[in-house]
Amino acid sequence: MDSTIKRMRVTIRGAVQGVGFRPFIYRLAKEMGLKGWVKNNSHGVIIEAEASEDILRGFLLRINPEKPRHAFIQSMEHSYLEPEYFHEFTIQKSDGSDGKTAIVLPDIAICSDCLKEILDPGNRRYQYPFTNCTNCGPRYTIITSLPYDRPNTTMMQFQMCDDCLAEYNNPEDRRFHAQPNACPKCGPQIELWDDKGNILAKHHDALLMTADAIRNEKIAAIKGMGGFHLVVDARNNSATLRLRKLKRREEKPLALMYPSLEMAQRDCLLSELEKRLLCSPESPIVLLRRNNHETDNISDLVAPKNPYLGVMLPYLPLHYILMAELGFPIVATSGNISEEPICIDEHEALSRLGEIADMFLVHNRPIVRPVDDSIVCIMAGREMVMRRSRGYAPLPIQIKHRIPKTLAVGGHLKNTVAVGFDNQVFVSQHIGDLETLQTYDIFQKTIDSINNLYEFKPEVMISDMHPGYISTKYAEKRDGKLNKIQHHHAHIYSCMAENELTPPALGVAWDGTGYGGDGTIWGGEFFKVDGKGLARIAYFRQFHLPGGEKAIKEPRRTAIGMLYEIYGNNLFKRDDILSLKSFSQAELDSLRVMSEKNINSPLTSSAGRIFDAVASLTGIRQETCFEGQAAMELEFAIGGIAVKDHYPFESKISSPAKNIYIIDWQPMIVAIINEINNNIDIRTISVKFHNTMAEIITYIAQVIGEKRVVLSGGCFQNRYLTEKTIERLRADGFQPYWHQRIPPNDGGISLGQAAALLYKKEGAE
Ligand code: ZN
Ligand code: ZN
Ligand code: FE
Repeated sequence: MDSTIKRMRVTIRGAVQGVGFRPFIYRLAKEMGLKGWVKNNSHGVIIEAEASEDILRGFLLRINPEKPRHAFIQSMEHSYLEPEYFHEFTIQKSDGSDGKTAIVLPDIAICSDCLKEILDPGNRRYQYPFTNCTNCGPRYTIITSLPYDRPNTTMMQFQMCDDCLAEYNNPEDRRFHAQPNACPKCGPQIELWDDKGNILAKHHDALLMTADAIRNEKIAAIKGMGGFHLVVDARNNSATLRLRKLKRREEKPLALMYPSLEMAQRDCLLSELEKRLLCSPESPIVLLRRNNHETDNISDLVAPKNPYLGVMLPYLPLHYILMAELGFPIVATSGNISEEPICIDEHEALSRLGEIADMFLVHNRPIVRPVDDSIVCIMAGREMVMRRSRGYAPLPIQIKHRIPKTLAVGGHLKNTVAVGFDNQVFVSQHIGDLETLQTYDIFQKTIDSINNLYEFKPEVMISDMHPGYISTKYAEKRDGKLNKIQHHHAHIYSCMAENELTPPALGVAWDGTGYGGDGTIWGGEFFKVDGKGLARIAYFRQFHLPGGEKAIKEPRRTAIGMLYEIYGNNLFKRDDILSLKSFSQAELDSLRVMSEKNINSPLTSSAGRIFDAVASLTGIRQETCFEGQAAMELEFAIGGIAVKDHYPFESKISSPAKNIYIIDWQPMIVAIINEINNNIDIRTISVKFHNTMAEIITYIAQVIGEKRVVLSGGCFQNRYLTEKTIERLRADGFQPYWHQRIPPNDGGISLGQAAALLYKKEGAE
């Protein structure tokens, strides 16, 4: 079998039936030498094609530009799967069995036809911010119930004028049955409000005044499709600083909107795949490598110490008109304070964002549910969705086998919920960290609204095992059968499900923290997956986290926890440890007591915390402002240098009966301290540390002898780690699998919980 052959599934939704789409795909596939098939289903076209990954990527890039003239693509998702070794390429009959349920479509970016109209002074929709057609515009954010008809949307309150109605009723028209159809005469309108809600301007003047304010260092709150954005001139330091202070977002990178692809290309390096993503109907934020930090036009405060920028292009008519007026990139960050949910209502915005924004560009088309911008990056040459929201949610993830009607309530941070039935799982938009009442409220509303939309009554509910998670408590309060799935099991199931893997496999779940089955905090786990379920077969030597929760925000505490395991009380006599130096004497005294007496110092095997500890030891970061910051900066410290070496590590079998391996990080940590003392450059230390972590995965894969290795958990958002691990595993003959359509972070937990039903047999561990 040719191991370079991959199978790619492409699911295309839109106007792709009855327009010669299948023959087009057939010809293209034949021309490129692909094997596989294409068929229609009730929502669009599905393609499965096999070839090498390079050829498949080329195929994917050709679909949109070369498609038949009357075809229109509203959504195109693809993933790489195990090959089935097809013999030829065929057009298959639609089997009519799959996807009979009506599905709710995501919100999509303005199409090129509508764009032409709003830029044409002779057109009746010239500069009209709510222009849309059957091929573009809002869906999920305006729908209140199925079927998707105007009375079931927030467009209900707008009576179509005669011209719009004629378009709506004409089968030949691009706006035939376009539910949000509107024009300046009959549709929603914009207004500019001051921070008290007084009207400053209406219609196009409102937009011009907003542009003027942004030029003059003001903060504008702009109501868009799935909620408000907070906007400032991205070139301007003082405006960006003020926004950060008021939004209470100290250092976490801010997303940007560029006026055009060309301008984004000046500041960032773009592959063909990244260009396709930026210009796609999904129009996500794409993490792009900066061209040259020093020469880009962006304020240093947008993404401090970060070689990447989160970039999106205009996706609403409103954005296009505004960006054409401005001609420079803007910060366009979620309209919220810190980690609260994004604000969707203009009156609520006045109270919640009143302290932040100088003015509010609002409109009167209500938003039913908050839907943030999605975040996507290219990982090992493939798309990886890091936050699945606008443009993607609530499209289903197809799974290999049928499951009962399931509601999965997800985890705690980066929460999403999911409903599954038949062989699909509908994953909700990103809800957020369930740390505030507002987020919990959105969590409940999202569950209710998905249940209502699909008239869905779950037969099974699934939550995390963590007794303290508010999502777990919510599930416990509801009637019905509740299963609890361990957090890291869910990570592995999630990755297996979207890759359509069947056991056996080796699962590697690395993240910050998760409630383990044994009362300790897990996060550096290896599982053997067989027909019965998951068995933990290796993990990192455990260490204490002095101060518990506090250690998550202070990498230096984790460093102390690990060092105490090595040096005991002698640790506090050392004068060569940067982590120690960042504490006051009083703090050190209390840390020593904590460590000696084991007070408030839970045990963990977390890989994410090891990244934190190394960031602290190397002096990169002692305290963090956001989740994952220390690990991110440690990764960025590599600075693109290529080093092959790694540090030593050990592993021993703890329980011969069960063959459980404990991976000892001590030799690595000692070596790192020695290198720091020998003034070895931080780039080298960081790259060698990352290499060691990849080496550990490869080593465990070798001792376990399982060919297929599944990588999941927040640590695999780290590009260097993920790509290095993939490279190492492949070099040794293993087959690595990682996330594509669903985030490796806790946003993927809900899918994993639902998918557990595929893999877990009753009674298995
Ligand atoms: Zn359109
Ligand atoms: Zn009209
Ligand atoms: Fe996790």
